[in-house]
Amino acid sequence: MPTVTISNEMLDRYNRAGPRYTSYPTVPYWTKTFGEADYKEALAEVAAKPEEVLSVYAHLPFCASRCHYCGCNATSTNRPEVVDAYLDRLEREVTMIMEPMGTKRKVTQLHWGGGTPNFLNEAQMTRVYRLLERYFEILPTAEVSLELDPRIATRQQLETIKSLGFNRVSLGVQDFNPKVQEAIGRIQPADMTKNFYWICREIGFQSVNVDIVYGLPYQTAISFQKTLDEIVSLKPDRIASFSYAHLPSSRTNQKQVDATGMPNHYEKFALLQMELETLAAAGYDWIGMDHFAHSTDELAIAARERRLFRNFMGYTTMPAPHQLAFGMSSISDLAGRFVQNDAHLGRYQKGIDAGHLPIDRGMKLSADDKFRRRVIMHMMCNAELPYNLTKAQFGVDVREVLGNEIERLRLYVEEGLVSFEPDRIEVTEVGRYFLRNLCMELDPYLAQKQDRPLFSRTI
Ligand code: SF4
Repeated sequence: MPTVTISNEMLDRYNRAGPRYTSYPTVPYWTKTFGEADYKEALAEVAAKPEEVLSVYAHLPFCASRCHYCGCNATSTNRPEVVDAYLDRLEREVTMIMEPMGTKRKVTQLHWGGGTPNFLNEAQMTRVYRLLERYFEILPTAEVSLELDPRIATRQQLETIKSLGFNRVSLGVQDFNPKVQEAIGRIQPADMTKNFYWICREIGFQSVNVDIVYGLPYQTAISFQKTLDEIVSLKPDRIASFSYAHLPSSRTNQKQVDATGMPNHYEKFALLQMELETLAAAGYDWIGMDHFAHSTDELAIAARERRLFRNFMGYTTMPAPHQLAFGMSSISDLAGRFVQNDAHLGRYQKGIDAGHLPIDRGMKLSADDKFRRRVIMHMMCNAELPYNLTKAQFGVDVREVLGNEIERLRLYVEEGLVSFEPDRIEVTEVGRYFLRNLCMELDPYLAQKQDRPLFSRTI
């Protein structure tokens, strides 16, 4: 991808607080008034259509220690019995939800996230997998994936993971530079990570991916280029590259991050551009906002064909109509509702013990929400807005509903972020960097007053 030149003045103007649009409407606008009865109503609608396939997510929140930079719903422990007690509750939650379904549901995508799923020992992992197999038919073509922390993994554990049925693994790397690792509280020797990567390859997972983060303290052009070169030499199938959001006031563990060496937003943007050039030269395509896939990977092919989707588990070519999620803080997306479990371990467990589905908040989407959701998700994934996108599902052209918003997007033509074609709006190479800003023009919720900052900055 050729470098595009973007002035500092333009970066200043666009570096606003804004959603990442993993969902629309975004999480801060879901409400506490959405409760267990609403969730049960949604589940009954899913149960009424047993032929519809599902995506399934399990949240396994435990880690050996808490990294300073972590933005996940995670907790550290060194006691296996704490994990067992959580798995008891997870089992009860799955049972409460799936027994009334009455049938074993087909699954096209299963993902374990955390926390660190491989903090579970082999018996615990097997227990969770067998629990899910009891209620779900994991299709032979399903993407079955989990996140791995190389610092605590063993070959034997990986062999168990493979034999259970996982076909995709994602390795947390973040950055190979020891100074960066020290600043973010995650010491992970490069040789150990690389050895572990090659073991994953030897064991024969269909897809081995790595997660990195840009915008971390002490990441310089030289140091980050070295990390990128090392990543490229491993040839992972996919690379997730997350923008570090430093929000110590809401994520208190981030107060421990050594922020003195943090790149400013100009430097951070330069790191992103360097990453795009390095990965493009190595044969990777830029996927959506923050992922890369080798140009032969099905995700890259789908992106070129503009048929990429995103759910809470990441980008996908095979979206299921419903996503069921289990465990503390997990988010389900089913029957036109979003539902989030309590993110506090104690409250989640107490809720289950009392025989409840421990919902923290949720939302039933209106017809307008569903329409805008379709538009925003397509734009975030495929960098375009075809006017007939909504015709088949909603019976109307995008312009019939979002006429004013489209006029607002027209103002970005002069800035070079979009071009207006006869049948669509195309996001330009420059516009790709500001997808979040463009989608904010389609989001009426942002006009609602809030008394605290809700989102990270767009750069
Ligand atoms: S970054 Fe990963 S390993 Fe570190 S605390 Fe967060 S979830 Fe755990």
